[in-house]
Amino acid sequence: MTAVARTERLREVGEPLLRIRGLRKAFGLQTVLEDVDLDVHTGEVTVLIGRSGSGKSTLLRCINHLEKPDSGYVEIDGRIIGYREHRGRLVERHQREITRQRADLGMVFQQFNLFGHLTVLENLIEAPVAVRGVSRTDASRTASELLARVGLAGRENSYPSQLSGGQQQRVAIARALAMRPRLLLFDEPTSALDPELVGEVLAVIRDLAADGMTMIIVTHEMAFAREVADTVVFLDGGHIAEKGSPAQVLDDPQDPGTRAFLSAVL
Ligand code: ADP
Ligand code: MG
Repeated sequence: MTAVARTERLREVGEPLLRIRGLRKAFGLQTVLEDVDLDVHTGEVTVLIGRSGSGKSTLLRCINHLEKPDSGYVEIDGRIIGYREHRGRLVERHQREITRQRADLGMVFQQFNLFGHLTVLENLIEAPVAVRGVSRTDASRTASELLARVGLAGRENSYPSQLSGGQQQRVAIARALAMRPRLLLFDEPTSALDPELVGEVLAVIRDLAADGMTMIIVTHEMAFAREVADTVVFLDGGHIAEKGSPAQVLDDPQDPGTRAFLSAVL
């Protein structure tokens, strides 16, 4: 079954695309995530908010297995990321399998993380060719389509340093889309941008939401969160303190920590 067909099946049976259960992560003696349970359904936009240091980036990094959980698990479409069952026990997958699993998860970072020595086109085709085995011709055609979609038609031969921050971040989004991810993760995608460049990046994410892309977005842009989120999650000291619709969490928070945070940022 193709990824598209599997995604459609999940939607039909009402199963979440992403399921996190009992996730715990510590660095040394510091527990950074504790008892995190989260479901994200196909087509759902989840916005993750919380103070600096509350564990938002670590949660995203556990989802794509850049960090290994100490306990609990992250499942995409019923398959645990990084582990497989063997005789009733979980054993670590081979790096090659993890790379393949990770290919279903796009990640967009605050600092863009484009390859500076590669052109925009080369940035976009590198992973599809190397990981998905797509031909350079097909990958290049898809890359040009995606550049048009993020408002950067014709910029194939530019280098990242020749682009504004907003343009670089739009290239980074196109690069993530080039892998045809089932879930896109954004870690403060506009925090490194000059204020006048924030809007163009949010517009691209808004379009993706309208297209039904499944996303988890860490952001401090509360107006944007209210607009695009189906679900808002407030992370406080590594645990989920509140979770619900934007109206519930942003307008009528029940948790004292959420209230204090929102009154500071709104
Ligand atoms: P947020 O993204 O919400 O600001 P992070 O997930 O980056 O929070 O960090 C949560 C906590 O974990 C912070 O106290 C941070 O210093 C700590 N932390 C994150 N990554 C590491 C690491 N690789 N090693 C040690 N501590 C880390
Ligand atoms: Mg962070």
